[in-house]
Amino acid sequence: MEALPPELANCRACPRLVEHRETIAREKRRTYRNESYWGRPVPGFGDPAARIALLGLAPGAHGSNRTGRMFTGDASGDFLYPALYRAGLASRPTAQAVDDGLTLRDVWITSSARCVPPGNRPNRDELINCRKWLEHDFDGLPRVRLVVALGGIAHNSYLDLLRSRGASLVKRDYTFSHGALHQLESFSGAVPLLDCYHPSFQNTNTGRLTAQMLDELLSRAIGLVGPWR
Ligand code: SF4
Repeated sequence: MEALPPELANCRACPRLVEHRETIAREKRRTYRNESYWGRPVPGFGDPAARIALLGLAPGAHGSNRTGRMFTGDASGDFLYPALYRAGLASRPTAQAVDDGLTLRDVWITSSARCVPPGNRPNRDELINCRKWLEHDFDGLPRVRLVVALGGIAHNSYLDLLRSRGASLVKRDYTFSHGALHQLESFSGAVPLLDCYHPSFQNTNTGRLTAQMLDELLSRAIGLVGPWR
């Protein structure tokens, strides 16, 4: 899989998000004022032979919009990567920069929108625009057997992707709920969807998502896809 096709690196399909990502990259957070921000669409990251796809929301303003790698350099990644490491899915428990040596096994991380949105909220048109990059990732992951949606927007993005491929599903029949497994077996080509709260600082700081909850969910995901081969 080509994680960063030139068309993605140069994508400007969403004027609002392009303006936002570039403004953040130009103005920077004081802590990172000496760093060069990525400030572009963030590509998927992980193991091209992955059987588990982690589907997030969008880049963090001073996380992956700064570093250029999913969940790298912010509080969400500081919670997610240690859990992936404990589960045996990551080579190290920290993610600071694209050249930190981190590798994933059996997991690919992707997102519903590739550019940081104001207020962490891409609008509907932006999610529709960005679906092609989600398609790009899934098309390049022939072994995927499970999608783990990190939050409700990711959950809906996956259902919308299936609908765009012809699945006639009704969203209210597939409500987001942490730990819910949606089998989706009646839709040709669909792999099951497992819901998980997003590891945002807001969720982890309030205890809505704890390390134990995430460990248990990843353990379940591994059980669902079976032993690594
Ligand atoms: Fe392009 Fe997606 Fe960024 Fe929109 S959010 S500009 S579609 S990469």
